[in-house]
Order: sequence, then C-alpha cells, then structure tokens
Amino acid sequence: PAFQAQIRSGHPPAFAAKIPAWSAIDKGALVQHLRSLLSRSGLDPYGKVVRTGSAERGTVVDVHTGEEREAIIWTTNLYLGFNRDEKIIEEARNALSRFGTGMGISAAGSGQTDLHVEFEREFAAIVGKPSACLLPTGFTASLGAIAGVVGEGDVVVMDQLCHASLVDGARLSGARVRTFRHNDTADLRAVLEAESSPHHTTLVVLESVYSMGEGAAPLRDIVPAAKEFGALVLVDEAHSFGLYGGRGAGLCAAEGVTEHVDLILTTLSKALGSIGGVVAAQEPLIALLRSSARAYVFQANTSPADIAAALAALRRVGESDALRERLWDTANYMRERFAAAGYELGTGDGLIITPHFSDGKNLRAIARGLFERGIHTAAVTYPIVERSRGRLRFICSASHTREDVDRTLQALVEAEAEATRRTASDGAASQ
Ligand code: PMP
Repeated sequence: PAFQAQIRSGHPPAFAAKIPAWSAIDKGALVQHLRSLLSRSGLDPYGKVVRTGSAERGTVVDVHTGEEREAIIWTTNLYLGFNRDEKIIEEARNALSRFGTGMGISAAGSGQTDLHVEFEREFAAIVGKPSACLLPTGFTASLGAIAGVVGEGDVVVMDQLCHASLVDGARLSGARVRTFRHNDTADLRAVLEAESSPHHTTLVVLESVYSMGEGAAPLRDIVPAAKEFGALVLVDEAHSFGLYGGRGAGLCAAEGVTEHVDLILTTLSKALGSIGGVVAAQEPLIALLRSSARAYVFQANTSPADIAAALAALRRVGESDALRERLWDTANYMRERFAAAGYELGTGDGLIITPHFSDGKNLRAIARGLFERGIHTAAVTYPIVERSRGRLRFICSASHTREDVDRTLQALVEAEAEATRRTASDGAASQ
C-alpha cells in the first residue's frame, strides 16, 4: 500500500527519491498491482499486438479484452516502410537460402558474412567516415560504443534526454557520468569547464533528433563547443539516419559537422526496417571497439537475412530522395492539420508528432477511443512525463498518406469529445 500511495503521489524525481529499497518491496503484490493498473487503463504498452501487417496498418488486438481492430498504426519507427518492401524482402530470402538463419557466434569469433562486411563498408561511406563496426542491435551498439572507448577515471557528459541505451552505456563504462540541460550549449560548456581535463578522456554524448518529438538538435552549436574542450563526441543518429540530409546521410552530414564528430551511431531497426546497430569512426577507434566493446566481442552477430534486408535498404536510402520527400510531406501536413485543430504540439519539427494534453486521466480514455475507431497510437503518460504533461505519440512513415492523417485527426477530435463527455457525466454521477 505504501508503494501504491507513492505511485499516486508526486512526479518522477520525488517518486524516485521516496522509493523503498528493492529488497523491501513485495514483488508478487507489485506485479499484480501493475498488471491491474495497466489492464484497467487500456495503456499497457505490451497489451496490444499486431497480428497481420506492420508499419502503417494492420490488425491490432487488445490482449486484455480480445477486441481487434483494423487500424492505422502510428507506433513504429519504420519511417521509410522498408520492412514491407518486396525487393528488400527478396534480398532477405536470398540470404536465408545462402546462409541459413543464425550466425551462432559474435563477429569477433568469425560470425560474419560478406554481407556484414559490405554493410559496414557502405554505411561508413554514406556517413563520411573511413570505417564502421556492426553490432547486433542499436541498444547494444550504444553500450559497446561508450563502454568500449571510456572507462574508470574518464568522464561522460550527456544530454539529459539521451536514450536509455546511452545512459546504460555510460553507467556500464565505469566513467563518471554528468548530464547537461537538453540541447543547452551554455550548460554543456559549464559542465565541461568543471569536468574536462588533459588527464582523462571526456566523451560528450548527444542524439541528433530526440525521440519525444522535439525535432533536430543544434549540432552546429553544440559539437564545436564540445571540441573546444578536447572532448570526444558521439552522436546517435537513430532518428535521423536515412531521414535527414541529402541522400539520407543523417543530421551530422546535413549540418556539416561530420568531421568533428568522433563516433556516429545508428540503429538498423528504424529507417532501415531491420535489426542491428552500427558505429562509424576513424579506423583506430573502430579497431579499439572491435577489441574492447564487450557487446561486439561477446554477442552473437545479427542474422544474415536481417543484414541482407538492412543492406538492401541502405542502398535504397542513398538512391533517391522521393520516399523522404513523401514522408516529410505527410509529417508537415499532420503538424499543420493538428495545429489548426487547436492541438499543442511543442516546438519540434520532426517526424514524431506529439499532441500534449494537460489531463492525464482524459488521455487514457482518448487512447481507448482512438483504438475503437481504428487508430493505434502510443500514449506517453506519467511517470515517463509529468502528470500534467501527457502526450499521444504519432510516428509518421512514408507509407502513411494524407488521408490517414485526416482520418486520424477526425478520430482524435471525436475520441476527445467523447472522453470529455464521459468525464463530465462521471463527475455529475458521483456528486
Ligand atoms: N538509440 C536511440 C536514440 C533509440 O531511440 C533507440 C531505440 N528506440 C536505440 C538507440 C536502440 O535501438 P534498437 O531498438 O534498434 O536496439
């Protein structure tokens, strides 16, 4: 009960400070409590499965109620829709025939095919670095890239909104971890002033585009600031590779900062529609990672079919800007239509559109109403964001159309009106 009371009160920092020791928590009761909370709220992030289709539409099933809907799906990062592309699927099939399913060992232990090697070479060339190193997922690429280049006695300075994989990589490294205010170059300078020294390595960790809808980071400002203090710079391009810049080379290339960024990292699971992670850098840094990144040395490599799909997608990324133009057209249209309908969208200009709602309780009903109308989206609520700042998250892909946007907006307006009516009548009934 004390734990439940803590869940209900305060917002994350206060909540985190008051949390009892893990060993003192009754885990059975906690699991039961969380399950019932999630199923009642309709917001269980694991409570919906896609039974057919994927990327932009399919049959979505609510695992708690068994209800299913043909839905427009706005929840995946399959930005270019390559996961459903017939030619790319054909390349994956060919690799299955040639190599079978799994690699069975890490790349360091000879678990790589010519496709893996070719992917590394072509990725490095696209982002403008001499060399690259593939890891099995984006998450473990973050772990490997950070813990492979810094360690005890060093310092990692990271944006406060960096992805969990980057935070975990920093912790794993054993280096001292400091954060600076989101996208705030002056605050980064202040932290570096206090923390950088010629006696240890300082690694500044950034994302090019943060995943909660804020849009592009000010790399042209922030990267040179880090370099002034002699820091190494890592940029995670998970949400920009394939999407920003000429030929989709990413935001570092688009902003002209590639030569000052020491490690460029991305995942193969978003624009490339597959699974895997990759880090590009100068040859000595890549050689260091291949020998010291434990996620590289001790983790079985991505399967040949996954790499074949990613390699085919990589070639398509650089081939033409047409898909990207369609994607940006849909995202800009969505932003304009939602803003014109009165939704507050924050300051971002990226591909993730996040209408903000001040009433967290209402948001649950709205998400439910959207599902009933065949729209599958993610609700981001407390404790991920403060109670008063709940959002819905719509991730645009090149497979979405303007018609999908119109249908979604209409459903949102209806679901919101219905939720408001219900809240009002519940309030009246309880008086
Ligand atoms: N970095 C960032 C910025 C991400 O958003 C993600 C995934 N959400 C990852 C790394 C991890 O990538 P993956 O899920 O492909 O392992």
